[in-house]
Amino acid sequence: MILNNTLFETANRVHEKSFGKEIAFERAIFFSWGCSIGDCTFCYMSTQPYGKNPQETRRTTESILAEFIFAKNVGWDIGFFTGGIGAFTPEEIEFFLKAAYEITGEKLWLSVGPIAKPLLKKYSPYIRGVVGSTETINPDLHKKVCPSKPLAPYEKMFREAKEFDLECAMTFIVGMGEKKEDIELLKDFIQEYAITKIHIYGLIPQKGTMFENVAIPTAEEQAWWIAQLRIAFPTLDIQCGIWEDRTARVALLLSVGANSISKFQATKLFGLKQAQDIETQVKIAGRIMRGSLTKLPQIDWEKEVEKLSFDEDLKKKIKEKLQKDYLKRINHNLKKVSVLSI
Ligand code: SF4
Repeated sequence: MILNNTLFETANRVHEKSFGKEIAFERAIFFSWGCSIGDCTFCYMSTQPYGKNPQETRRTTESILAEFIFAKNVGWDIGFFTGGIGAFTPEEIEFFLKAAYEITGEKLWLSVGPIAKPLLKKYSPYIRGVVGSTETINPDLHKKVCPSKPLAPYEKMFREAKEFDLECAMTFIVGMGEKKEDIELLKDFIQEYAITKIHIYGLIPQKGTMFENVAIPTAEEQAWWIAQLRIAFPTLDIQCGIWEDRTARVALLLSVGANSISKFQATKLFGLKQAQDIETQVKIAGRIMRGSLTKLPQIDWEKEVEKLSFDEDLKKKIKEKLQKDYLKRINHNLKKVSVLSI
């Protein structure tokens, strides 16, 4: 890809030197849809009636585990495992972490708010690291967009995570009013807490929030933050969040230093035009993506479930979920695409 900008060209060179051409698609897996904070001013949750019992918002066990099995078999990395505080007990979370570790063969990133030290210890055999949903780093802006989600508890978690050899990751949303000079604050934060992974999202203006009529950040604006971080931290794992209306920016974001793509509704749109567009963009950037957003592997899904150590009743339910929520819909998408291309 031709990058007519010195910053972007430099970032591309630094990235290729550190990582070569391979990139990944990452799937974040949610265990519930509720949130006990609920007032971040950019978030869809802030428009929802307050006070719903978090346990009423949780997904079924079979649905969560079916998603892990699907993601693993199409070659996606798991971005993180996340959900609302209080939706599951720590013992139930531990069960999922253990189960996900068995399915994927890899330790997970966990994003469940600031995690207390005893729980870091409890989860540490199954997790690679913890994600702080920090969202932005300028203190004044942070107070405005996350009034009930201060940074200090995440900072404490990051410090304590080191005691259990856990890595630390953070999130950053471009487009909420940050200034370019905030990059220095962000670099200092990454250095201070030895952050090894960052998720750089672009604002999605949600209806009913203060950002409803705000323009989405341009591709160049999102790329600027990625490029700056790539140059400052050549081996930092940088993930770019995109949405179905932003597939055209994927080549640029990868070229300037993103290691992976996420947030795209990959199971709903599997095989469809937007998913095809992403794969084209990966090629334009000269990158090679592990896994696929358009091709379903020919495997025996029942066998994939059978080889796991879960009880028979749970396995039966997982198989049903895989068929109903994933394979049926995706085969429908693939059929639709093949009919259109005849
Ligand atoms: S951003 Fe996260 S913590 Fe804040 S309201 Fe939304 S789901 Fe809750």
